[in-house]
Amino acid sequence: MEHSVSYIFDDKLLEHCDKLPPVKQRASMVHALIESYELLKYMNIIPSVKATPEDLQLFHSSSFVKCMKESNDLDLDDVNEEQIEFGLGYDCPPFENIFETILTIAGGSLTAASRLVSEDTKIAINWCGGWHHAQRDEAEGFCYVNDIVIGIEKLREKFKRILYIDLDIHHGNGVENAFAFSKKVFTLSFHKHEPGFYPGSGLLSDVGLGNGRGYSCNVPLKEGVSDYSLNYLFKIICPQIYEAYQPEVVVVQCGSDCLNEDPLGQSNLTLDSLGECIRSILNWNKPTLFLGGGGYNLPNTARLWTYLTAIITGQDKLISMDIPDNDFFLKYGPGYELPIVKGNQKDTNDKTYLDCIIKTVKDNLKKYDVKSSL
Ligand SMILES: [Zn+2]
Repeated sequence: MEHSVSYIFDDKLLEHCDKLPPVKQRASMVHALIESYELLKYMNIIPSVKATPEDLQLFHSSSFVKCMKESNDLDLDDVNEEQIEFGLGYDCPPFENIFETILTIAGGSLTAASRLVSEDTKIAINWCGGWHHAQRDEAEGFCYVNDIVIGIEKLREKFKRILYIDLDIHHGNGVENAFAFSKKVFTLSFHKHEPGFYPGSGLLSDVGLGNGRGYSCNVPLKEGVSDYSLNYLFKIICPQIYEAYQPEVVVVQCGSDCLNEDPLGQSNLTLDSLGECIRSILNWNKPTLFLGGGGYNLPNTARLWTYLTAIITGQDKLISMDIPDNDFFLKYGPGYELPIVKGNQKDTNDKTYLDCIIKTVKDNLKKYDVKSSL
């Protein structure tokens, strides 16, 4: 039976995504949980097609691609200065067969985008994608390739206005930088912005550059953002941008490191607020690409992306709150339940601050005359 949701999945994609430091085996955990909830039957399962080196150049420079190709089977100790320039080492260590992994990861989002371009699907999901920090010339922040930008470039073959929404706790810097000068892609990032918190960019005053001025929007959050604060902001800001810009397609990065108990995100959201965001986006009824992203508490990442898959396929009210048996069942202890609870962290985003963000975003849409007739 044909469904309106396509789920990008095949063993090779999982195998390569499973190798990514520091989310080893995460892709398999996510897929196993989605499968155990019997959600696969509500989607068309679409195997990914590996990207070509030329596909990578939809965004990355030829010298970056060449460097990654030559870095296949490189030991961390053997990284040379040029490779360090291109970002290998530190937070993006080389690993076995790295170039194959890069091509496969990019291929997942490219396959998803192609399905939307050919109108074979209304919604595509690729939880193996969402690597938003990679820059044109540099691997960065655990991201070896920017599959999102490559996917968006593919979408541009058909769609004139693309809205990118980034829910990861970190600023979606690679995607914003890629389209900073363009009106064709409106980037919106919600992220924590505190001293010392990676990557440090994404201020409220960063609105895009040159011809693209006004077509980037940043929502920098202070420590401890709660479900209430995120939903308050999202439900006012997103409809305003949507109304002004009238996107033809939406791309959503669903990084789960904003959840409580993420070791890197140190934040306090639960499945509830993120689920609400996804419901709002689905209500627009536009072609939409859902991607993964950060998420370093692996069972919680699997919980979120399974829950979002249930929402996207209309099954969220029907699924059990008890984790079904699967290959990684023991990882979900001691509670073995789908929901995650919020912690005691204080939300330092007070109403005055939230309202200030909302007013600035609204003023900017007007000031830069953001509109759909490009
Ligand atoms: Zn992140």
